[in-house]
Amino acid sequence: MKKTKTFPEQKQNLPGNEHLMKPQPEIIRENYTGSGKLQGKTAFITGGDSGIGRSVAVHFAREGANIAIVYLKEDKDALKTKEMIEKEGQECLLISGDLKDEKFCKEAIKKCHTHFKKLNIVVNNAAVQFPKKELEKVTTEQLHKTFETNIYPYFYITKAALPFLKSGDAIINTSSVTAYRGSEHLLDYSSTKGAIVTFTRSLSSMLAKKQIRVNGVAPGPIWTPLIVATFDKLSDFGKDNPMERAGQPSEVAPAYVFLACEDSSYITGQFIHINGGELVGS
Ligand code: NAD
Ligand code: MG
Repeated sequence: MKKTKTFPEQKQNLPGNEHLMKPQPEIIRENYTGSGKLQGKTAFITGGDSGIGRSVAVHFAREGANIAIVYLKEDKDALKTKEMIEKEGQECLLISGDLKDEKFCKEAIKKCHTHFKKLNIVVNNAAVQFPKKELEKVTTEQLHKTFETNIYPYFYITKAALPFLKSGDAIINTSSVTAYRGSEHLLDYSSTKGAIVTFTRSLSSMLAKKQIRVNGVAPGPIWTPLIVATFDKLSDFGKDNPMERAGQPSEVAPAYVFLACEDSSYITGQFIHINGGELVGS
């Protein structure tokens, strides 16, 4: 575990590229040993170019899965993720495009299925956030962008993927601690994260009979490009939770492995809270 407690006040509002971050996030622990938990599976991960998505992609690969990742336009980060997946001996398909566009979502799923001839795990993870201290500053344009990016694609992607999913397959959604305790500076973002919790619960009921499980992860403060690109003050990031530090992507992704594989075969509609000890309702 990286003991990173403080972060330098680096140049703010970087475009959200992982290769520009200092320090670099920890993607996977050197001593993480794969044990074939996802052998022969294919996973589709949105926002898999960087941060939590990249870490999930690399962990899944170490567990034996092939990976398709969707990202907006961060080609350099995406290529690095691909390289990391290939280093694990697995294949990676890169798909660049805008998840706000339903047609693109359908095509992306189709591309993944055509390429790998199967689809077993869908990780909905891409998101944007635009912190604003006052409601008046949340423009209609921002509101639309946040909802259209953070929750609409969960419907588009899942709808496109469902025809390919079978008994034993899994969908994993990415919410946030902000869904559970609210966030005064992320009103629109935290609302989308609440929607993701309810979406997960409803979908889990809908798909339970098909033995397709739907769960989620609710991260607290995790050191990723999203944070560096959007928050003004980084030195205190993550310090107000019981463990008094931010988490690394390497501390989040193993939960996705658990929810994707057979180990969680009797769990659906649930969230795992990875937030340094902040106690929230389930
Ligand atoms: P990240 O910036 O590394 O990942 C988000 C990715 O989403 C980007 O790489 C981008 O390619 C993709 N994306 C954004 N808009 C898109 C669009 N229109 N079309 C296609 N792709 C798009 O950040 P992250 O922190 O790893 O975020 C991953 C998830 O974790 C998000 O859902 C975020 O809300 C959640 N989360 C993060 C934290 C944290 O502290 N980092 C805390 C709670 C929840
Ligand atoms: Mg990125």
